[in-house]
Amino acid sequence: MRWENLAAGSEHSRADAALFGAEAVTTRTIDTPEFRGVTFHEIRARSIVNRVPGASRMPFEWTVNPYRGCTHACVYCFARKTHGYLDLDTGLGFDSQIVVKVNAPELLRHRLASRHWQGEHIAMGTNVDCYQRAEGRYRLMPGILAALRDHANPFSILTKGTLLLRDLELLEQAAEVTDVGVSVSVGFTDERLWRTVEPGAPAPERRLEVVRTLAEHGLDCGVLMAPVIPFLSDGPDQLRATVRAVAAAGATSVTPLVLHLRPGAREWFTSWLGQHHPYLVDRYERLYAEGAYAPKWYQRRITRQVHELAREYGIGPARGGTPRRTGTPGPAEAPLSGPTQLSLT
Ligand code: SF4
Repeated sequence: MRWENLAAGSEHSRADAALFGAEAVTTRTIDTPEFRGVTFHEIRARSIVNRVPGASRMPFEWTVNPYRGCTHACVYCFARKTHGYLDLDTGLGFDSQIVVKVNAPELLRHRLASRHWQGEHIAMGTNVDCYQRAEGRYRLMPGILAALRDHANPFSILTKGTLLLRDLELLEQAAEVTDVGVSVSVGFTDERLWRTVEPGAPAPERRLEVVRTLAEHGLDCGVLMAPVIPFLSDGPDQLRATVRAVAAAGATSVTPLVLHLRPGAREWFTSWLGQHHPYLVDRYERLYAEGAYAPKWYQRRITRQVHELAREYGIGPARGGTPRRTGTPGPAEAPLSGPTQLSLT
């Protein structure tokens, strides 16, 4: 492991200046196989609870994001753009330059204890995945969940990370005292597609095991079926296979969200498309000619198909079992157009 306290002129100093001003930042490059090529920028953040700009469009107003950048490395990730704000590369840099707010648990506990805090819902996993692989090393979420539990503060988590199960006991404890919503993101079950388009994320089947385990423990878990990737995962058989697997895992809901390609993600995705599926580049240019979103007719078609399949496979809030006090805001029904803060995590 290589580490340095940054000073002006070092290789990452521009990015660190962009993010943290003059405050000390420790940068570590870890040479274990799991993190080969990954650099962690450890910072002591000034705040951890963020208000969502334009929250009226969102199902949540407050978020906590202990990381920036994500080693799950999904090619389509909309959060890539936010790495540019830090003067970091939005392509490979987003996958390998990870900002870690090492004081996130203590900051959150302090905020929740403030007399100004009204106990509003806090959403996690809305920008990048809070259970990405870095969490295995830094273990920030147990402290965050413990703070939320101790203050009986409602919260939701959206993730692709199987590491969530490490904190199952904390989730159960929190669900005894407040509303806890957990959603897992599984856009498709095609393993070949997963290996190239979500190369750092756990396999779809492993994510569905998370859903299954939560259900077995009486915790509701929805699935955000995101993204549905035009021409690659939107065939009727593919949609059916995914919804069937989601239902078999015991998900309480399935919410489809068609791929959107905002600046930052669009360039990276288009380059990936040209490399792996060059025959689709022109079709994508036409489908996304109007901007970041596929046309409404296409989004509506996918939503209708998935909802019909969900009905057929019996996914809904009235499934058997006696879940505990969970299930409040997971990800919202996707808007048919306009910006969204959902990360497809
Ligand atoms: S979509 Fe989610 S899991 Fe994938 S890279 Fe982005 S933040 Fe990470």
